[in-house]
Amino acid sequence: MLETQIKNELIKIVGKDRYLDRQEEIFCYAYDAFLVESLPDAVIFPETTHEVSKILQAASRHKIPVTGRGAGTSLCGASVPIRQGIVLCFSKMDKIIEVNTRDRHIIVQPGVVNADVQKALLPFRFFYPPDPGSMNTSTIGGNIAMNAGGPRCLKYGVTADYILGMEVVLASGKIIRFGSKNIKDVTGYKLSSLFCGSEGTLGVITEATLKVMPIPEAVKTLMVTFDNLDNTAKAVTDIIGSGIIPVAMELMDKLTLNAIEDSANLGLDRKAEGSLLIEIDGVMEACEKEMKKIIEKVKKNGAVNIQTAASELERESLWTARRSAYGVFAKLAPDIITEDVTVPVSKVPLMIRQIMEIADRYGLKAYILAHAGDGNMHPMIPTDKENKDDWEKVEKAFSEIFQAAAKLGGTLSGEHGIGLAKAPYLPFVMNKDTMDFIKTIKQAVDPDLILNPGKFV
Ligand SMILES: Cc1cc2nc3c(=O)[nH]c(=O)nc-3n(C[C@H](O)[C@H](O)[C@H](O)COP(=O)(O)OP(=O)(O)OC[C@H]3O[C@@H](n4cnc5c(N)ncnc54)[C@H](O)[C@@H]3O)c2cc1C
Repeated sequence: MLETQIKNELIKIVGKDRYLDRQEEIFCYAYDAFLVESLPDAVIFPETTHEVSKILQAASRHKIPVTGRGAGTSLCGASVPIRQGIVLCFSKMDKIIEVNTRDRHIIVQPGVVNADVQKALLPFRFFYPPDPGSMNTSTIGGNIAMNAGGPRCLKYGVTADYILGMEVVLASGKIIRFGSKNIKDVTGYKLSSLFCGSEGTLGVITEATLKVMPIPEAVKTLMVTFDNLDNTAKAVTDIIGSGIIPVAMELMDKLTLNAIEDSANLGLDRKAEGSLLIEIDGVMEACEKEMKKIIEKVKKNGAVNIQTAASELERESLWTARRSAYGVFAKLAPDIITEDVTVPVSKVPLMIRQIMEIADRYGLKAYILAHAGDGNMHPMIPTDKENKDDWEKVEKAFSEIFQAAAKLGGTLSGEHGIGLAKAPYLPFVMNKDTMDFIKTIKQAVDPDLILNPGKFV
């Protein structure tokens, strides 16, 4: 709990109703979708940028840690207040400020849920491309702070590619605005890239201007199964190598397909060793041409079963299996570790083999789910954190998986970020001088280290 004088100072800014500190009220702000818990001293719900600024001024004065929170869906512990202090929760800053499809932007507060941005754009036949699997709950503030991606980022890119402008409150309480509503703007440093992916360690995002895109005329979706996982992965590199960039190319292995089938009964092919869900979009004729080429490529790689969606309903049903995955895995064991290593696409087949080999060696089951077209793998290992032996094996296996990815020219995270989960492994992909440079930036922007301390910086 914060000292009474500090508590009163903060209540003066937001009022009693938007300040929580009773254990039963703040317990659910102690964790996110990772495994670590840490109870904050208080949870505050600001409604305006001015309030955020005042709160940060007070936090700076008293050197109290401040951790921003959207929906708490981080898979790497990024939103856990590991050094206690204040959790700033943005659920009351959830307004869409402007929708302007002529100038191709939407302006939102940080607590707006990603799916609500999509809903606001749909009547204009526009969309916002970043589509994390958590889009029905995760917020734009959280998406920006984590530089979130999703299946369609293969063609459209990640959150950082869609930020035109931002308003940020610094640790000192100063309010800065950068970027603009212009699609082109090269006025000085691209500061949005600094804050995007900073996991709340450099500033608090209070408003964002996002670039939006027109919904393409046609979408074609297909699901293919293979009797060999290697061939499944090779089909991915063949398609990309032929010059086709699908919207999404989602890979699932046999274990994953069977786990989903056990739980959801969708009629998936239990014998398949691997499957690909491929989606393309664009103008109709181009889509038809590309689809033919894709079918040629998957056949060449020994496709066993090819299913194309003839209607929106069929398309949705093809996506159901992929979308069910996280829910299904949550039921497999007390804990499930979802990782996020990413390798150059040509290395996908090799990386999959190495993940299997490492998991096997530790006697663990690795379920493979991947945004395979951009080399982003989500190996998932069910475990029980309370079982020390099991947990040690999982940690060792993932450490080896991270190292293997780094050796293949890959990286620790394609979209879930670093947070608490992957901070110890940063030296696999960054040298000391680079880490020092990151620390220099942090020190300059947040000299008292109050913003989301204990995380990757
Ligand atoms: C089922 C499931 C599926 C997922 N699928 C994907 C996926 O496909 N792609 C993907 O990229 N991620 C995915 N994620 C991870 C997670 O949803 C994303 O990282 C998401 O961007 C987090 O948003 P949030 O609103 O929940 O943020 P939180 O978890 O609340 O916070 C995340 C980070 O952002 C910071 N933060 C939050 N708001 C602000 C703010 N206003 N200013 C500054 N910092 C802030 C927090 O301090 C924290 O460091 C998934 C998670 C789950 C549980």
